[in-house]
Amino acid sequence: MKKLHSIFVCTLWLVASMVPAMASSNPTHDVSESSKAKKRIIKKIAPIVVECPQGTNPRLPWQVWVTYSDGTGEWRQTRWSNAAQQTEQTEQTYLVGHKFTVDGVITGDNTTENGYPITATVTVVNKNWDVPAQPVAEPLPLTMVSITGDNRLTWNRNLDIREILSWDITQQLYNYRDTYGLSIEGYKVADGWDSPTTKLKGHGSGHYMSALAFAYASTYGTPEGRQIRERIERMVNELRACQERTFVWSDSLGRYFEARDYAPEPVLKEMKGTWAAFNEYKKDYKHYGYGYLNAIPAAHPALIECYRAYHNEEWVWAPYYTIHKQLAGLIDIANVMNSITTSLNDVQPRQNTDRRLTNKQIAEKALLIAKDMGLWVWNRLHYRTYVSTEGDKAQRQARPGNRYEMWNMYIAGEVGGMQESLSRLSEMVTDPTEKARLLEAANCFDSPAFYQPLSTNMDDIRTRHANQHIPMITGALRSYRGNHKAYYYNIAYNFWNMIQGRYAYAMGGVGNGEMFRQPYSQMLSMNTSVSRGWGRNGNTVPDPNINETCCAYNLAKLTKDLNCFDPDDARYMDYYERVLYNQIIGSVNPEHYSCTYQYAVGMNAQKPFGNETPQSTCCGGTGAENHVKYQEAAYFVNDNTIWVALYMPTVAQWAQKDVVIEQECLWPAESSKIKIKKGSATFAMKLRVPYWATQGFSVKLNGKQLAKKYQPCSYFEIPARLWNEGDIVEVTMPFTTHINWGPDKMELAATTTNPQQPFTPMWVGAIMYGPLVMTTEEVKTWDEADFTLSSDLHEVQPQPVQAGTGMNANLYTLRLFPSGEQGEGLLFVPDYYETHRSTHYLRLNVLTDAKGNKQSSKLTKTMLESAIKIAKERKAEQEKWNALTVKVPAHAPWAPHGYARLMEQLANAEAVNAKDAKTVSQTEINAAASLLNMVINTMRPGNLAEPEDLTELQNLLTQCKDIRDKTTELREAISYADMVVGYVNGGSGTKDMIDKALDRLKTARANNK
Ligand SMILES: [Zn+2]
Repeated sequence: MKKLHSIFVCTLWLVASMVPAMASSNPTHDVSESSKAKKRIIKKIAPIVVECPQGTNPRLPWQVWVTYSDGTGEWRQTRWSNAAQQTEQTEQTYLVGHKFTVDGVITGDNTTENGYPITATVTVVNKNWDVPAQPVAEPLPLTMVSITGDNRLTWNRNLDIREILSWDITQQLYNYRDTYGLSIEGYKVADGWDSPTTKLKGHGSGHYMSALAFAYASTYGTPEGRQIRERIERMVNELRACQERTFVWSDSLGRYFEARDYAPEPVLKEMKGTWAAFNEYKKDYKHYGYGYLNAIPAAHPALIECYRAYHNEEWVWAPYYTIHKQLAGLIDIANVMNSITTSLNDVQPRQNTDRRLTNKQIAEKALLIAKDMGLWVWNRLHYRTYVSTEGDKAQRQARPGNRYEMWNMYIAGEVGGMQESLSRLSEMVTDPTEKARLLEAANCFDSPAFYQPLSTNMDDIRTRHANQHIPMITGALRSYRGNHKAYYYNIAYNFWNMIQGRYAYAMGGVGNGEMFRQPYSQMLSMNTSVSRGWGRNGNTVPDPNINETCCAYNLAKLTKDLNCFDPDDARYMDYYERVLYNQIIGSVNPEHYSCTYQYAVGMNAQKPFGNETPQSTCCGGTGAENHVKYQEAAYFVNDNTIWVALYMPTVAQWAQKDVVIEQECLWPAESSKIKIKKGSATFAMKLRVPYWATQGFSVKLNGKQLAKKYQPCSYFEIPARLWNEGDIVEVTMPFTTHINWGPDKMELAATTTNPQQPFTPMWVGAIMYGPLVMTTEEVKTWDEADFTLSSDLHEVQPQPVQAGTGMNANLYTLRLFPSGEQGEGLLFVPDYYETHRSTHYLRLNVLTDAKGNKQSSKLTKTMLESAIKIAKERKAEQEKWNALTVKVPAHAPWAPHGYARLMEQLANAEAVNAKDAKTVSQTEINAAASLLNMVINTMRPGNLAEPEDLTELQNLLTQCKDIRDKTTELREAISYADMVVGYVNGGSGTKDMIDKALDRLKTARANNK
């Protein structure tokens, strides 16, 4: 193994000019032995023919079925060459009848240096995409499915339930009482992002209500259930009492004060979001408007109408984001309580005089609160906001209330799933006027700037904030149930498919820092786009923790909802299984409840557990919900069919058919017995054949073999029949080893010990075993991460399964025996199981038949040219702003350090691009594209802090951490500063946060005597 890092001591940004000459890192392990091994090559792929409605971009498959020379086959990932924005724009101009081809490759294959070439033939047609008119199946409700057995699923669920019960409910009510002028005596002050001086307060209480509801779904009828129910009832009662304080009659108006009356425009324009101002606003609850229910005064959502950006103490954070969490919590309570009618045991009067609500009454009250707040939102947005796309940004912001601008703001415009909750409310109420208003309110949260390109399958999600936008897609899809406009379905369908190939990682997560980067750049981004310690010693250290857990939570939800419309498309539940069985189940520390914010994805990464309460952070909030709803998409049903979507040990009550179905299996499962435990009914049963089940899938009905032919990534159907108690279906599907390939070859990496290591281009992938992403503690640097494997992957060997119990139950492991090396091999364990530092992605050279190995002769410049175009656009934006005579620094398009790096790499990229084809190599082109992409990925909008701004804070933080005896104040200041460093590196930290962290550390250090 050649160690390269000692040669390169220059800073990262000087590497560009030196990349091509020296990149040569031989595969680590001797290949002589493997080369004798059996080789299989790709033999056949079905033609890829696509019809593309005029004005859209073709929907190209992100996975294709390949047949190998040895007769086996599997799904392989693709990468298409039309991802550059200028190419997408050109495609949209083609007229009906035009035919064109798009080149692509199958990733991970070494037939050519760019992969295995494939081509799609596209015809532009004069018709729209087909869309399903309505959902054709719904998941069995959470309350009707319970997870059984002693396994990681029940372990995590029980851990979450115990934790939920340990949270002090008064802390969840504190902010409401404070906001509505009620006494806070006896109520514990809220903390984390719900603390009295955090503008996201309310978000945690919302997640708390959802978590209570989901936990109750698994505990009703038990002592824990009784305690949870008590909390649910109290939340609902106290929130309604707060909300009722806004029912204020106005004689002059001749009606109640409404949302539209709050803060008339001249007043609004003078309002500010400082805490001093907020303390005044909260005395004014009588004028919030009928139905306002929030943990913060109504000034908060009103201020966003003045485009009050997320960047300092004077304005807002993300007002509608928090409103959504509270609405969602109430809706979840309403749904769960409504479907549990047989839990009288849970109601135990505290005193004889106590009037306790029935479950149905709790459900009605929760719905009423949510509906009244939903109508407040309708009233406010209907009367006080509008959409105008005309003119430039300044013109569009001239008057308050332009929703086009409001929702397009970075983070401040983050509205969570407002559309989803309002659409659901619209489905739940019966009054036609209220239904219509709630649906109108839902679509008031449409973001045309974000939606329009997506509705035509154009990738405008690159560089956007990931978790700000994923819930807007779920919302678009939910609103489609009410408005029936294909536009909304297409947005969701296109987005989901775009995610699969262009942005997702093996565990199903997305995002670097909190952002989407450039398409098809996951491996490069993983290794370069996020950094810790930037600017210290000129060293760049990529943070291996990426893929915010909230994104995984929201993508799972979107997938479940899309599956309702097309439950026969197994790609949805294949993905759901991927993200649930890996990132979501792996996101809680099984030994001590704490959840991840970012996840461990990159080199030698350790899951950054923390986020111990729903109010701690966004991921603390989604984390509280995640582990009490693993079963929410296990089964889908309609009038005549049940889809077994996930293999997990469960008991399911299908009320409409009056049958109880039990799935008896381990988790994870290679086989499962599905029994009719009670009842008798006629229906069809569809069993998911996972994409990974390439070495057999067998189905027996009452002992008789059924499945002879099957296709991985599909459903096997047992046609409608009369099922009787005792009928049993046995499914067997051995786990297979395969590789989830990254889309790019990661031509360079930044690591601790070798800050700027360029590599010989090599495919990067994660080893999978069945649905499980596998990870190893024995690879700690990219130098150690090169492996050569035979095409049948026989160097990767499954080990005997360890039975175990609880969190250790049914543990699958693999060992990788690098060819030519003796010994025990490298141990791999499932990602969900790993809590130490480990590595998922390896540089893998899978040998292919030499005869089939042809070099691609044509130079490909697509990525380079695309990166140059983006860079030039950013340059033009910044130059336009520079030319202004009056400048507000926070309004600069781009923050200075990132912009300076862009200029440097743009010059280099243009020089490479200008070289004569005879003197430039593909490696040189790729390296220039990678470097330019890397700097594009690390740029921040002008109002955000950059890692370079952290130098003073990092130094002070190091000094404070070195102090031996720390006061609580100092420990808390350190923990706050650590959080700020994380946010700044992740892309959402502000300069105000840095200043606040510095102040707190300085004060705490001075007091630490
Ligand atoms: Zn989060």
